[in-house]
Amino acid sequence: MSKTIAINAGSSSLKWQLYQMPEETVLAKGIVERIGLDDAISTVKFNGRAESQTLSIKDHTVAVKLLLDDLKRFEIITDFSEITGVGHRVVAGGEVFKNSVLVDEAVLAKIEELSSLAPLHNPANAAGIRAFKEILPDIVSVAVFDTAFHTSLPEVAYRYPLADKYYTDYQVRKYGAHGTSHYYVSQEAARILNKPIEELKLITAHIGNGVSLSAIAGGKSVDTSMGFTPLAGPMMGTRSGDIDPAIIPYLVEHVPGLEDAAAVVNALNKESGILGVSGLTNDMRDLEAAMKDGNPKAQLAFDMFADRLKKYIGQYFAVLNGADALIFTAGIGENDALLREKIVKELSWFGLDIDPAKNVFGNSGIISTADAKVKVIVVPTDEELVIARDVEALKAQ
Ligand code: ADP
Repeated sequence: MSKTIAINAGSSSLKWQLYQMPEETVLAKGIVERIGLDDAISTVKFNGRAESQTLSIKDHTVAVKLLLDDLKRFEIITDFSEITGVGHRVVAGGEVFKNSVLVDEAVLAKIEELSSLAPLHNPANAAGIRAFKEILPDIVSVAVFDTAFHTSLPEVAYRYPLADKYYTDYQVRKYGAHGTSHYYVSQEAARILNKPIEELKLITAHIGNGVSLSAIAGGKSVDTSMGFTPLAGPMMGTRSGDIDPAIIPYLVEHVPGLEDAAAVVNALNKESGILGVSGLTNDMRDLEAAMKDGNPKAQLAFDMFADRLKKYIGQYFAVLNGADALIFTAGIGENDALLREKIVKELSWFGLDIDPAKNVFGNSGIISTADAKVKVIVVPTDEELVIARDVEALKAQ
């Protein structure tokens, strides 16, 4: 019996979840937001309670110290020695990290070196790791990479049709993201279908504020929609997804305020997608409310969002030469029956057919009709659980 903590550190936030292992019981979870500011907020949820406090939090080390002290203060633990492992989500593992690893100084240095591939994320992930090492130096520390599941992509899929030197000298290739989620929901789908994953061809659709799809053959990711960075793929909450790259220099030349390529990429990441097209929101619930009020821009954003998803699903039917199941996950994928219905109905030729009685908010599992050729499955994702399990597995080695 031991407690393991799963950490997801962003540049100004730190999300955490404490597990009792191997039972996999969630004992508490929380988030520290606005790290670096005088009015940072720390929230702890446990036993149906939610406790928040606003205070100055200088950096990630202070955030980690605070969350650990809170675990004691709320009597979720009595002593730090009960925590025997920590797992950290790391966004970019490049070509180096094909699996989760125990963190030592060399691993930490490599994670920091890979910051060029994820300049906003890897430094924050490394800061989270260092903070734990400082405060609890003796516990097992594991890094779990968002990209690891996609290191099985064949070269034909991960290479861009660019001159060779950009790959060999500059490592420009598809790395993908959300790998832990695609891995988890594909395994769950096999369990729900009661078939060995080795025999299955699956299309997984992680549709949250960020969106990515994967084509999974025999349990291995063979293609995925995020690319060199998470900007690629279908339309997202604030990201454009795929666009003609020639738009970038055109905008630099013609739009005041977009002074260089970096400014355009920033707009493509933060001011595009559902937010950009609707001019209203990046949040799907708010978008659908506006749509029901007859807002035409909201309707257009919704229709474009569904259209881009549908095209990617179509692509992955081609990549896999047919599929056994389509899996919906993440905030929108798990909850939005309207969007699922639209996508599935418009892919009927591929053998998809939705059961309206099962495609309802709050339901998960198989939502396709009994005789549909391709099953449609809703699986709530659980990246933190994968992290906690990987800590346990590596601890045992
Ligand atoms: P992130 O990528 O930030 O982790 P999430 O996976 O939490 O995002 O997904 C957030 C999205 O899920 C938001 O657009 C939100 O509106 C949407 N969402 C949550 N609940 C529902 C719902 N009941 N119906 C439609 N969309 C929902």
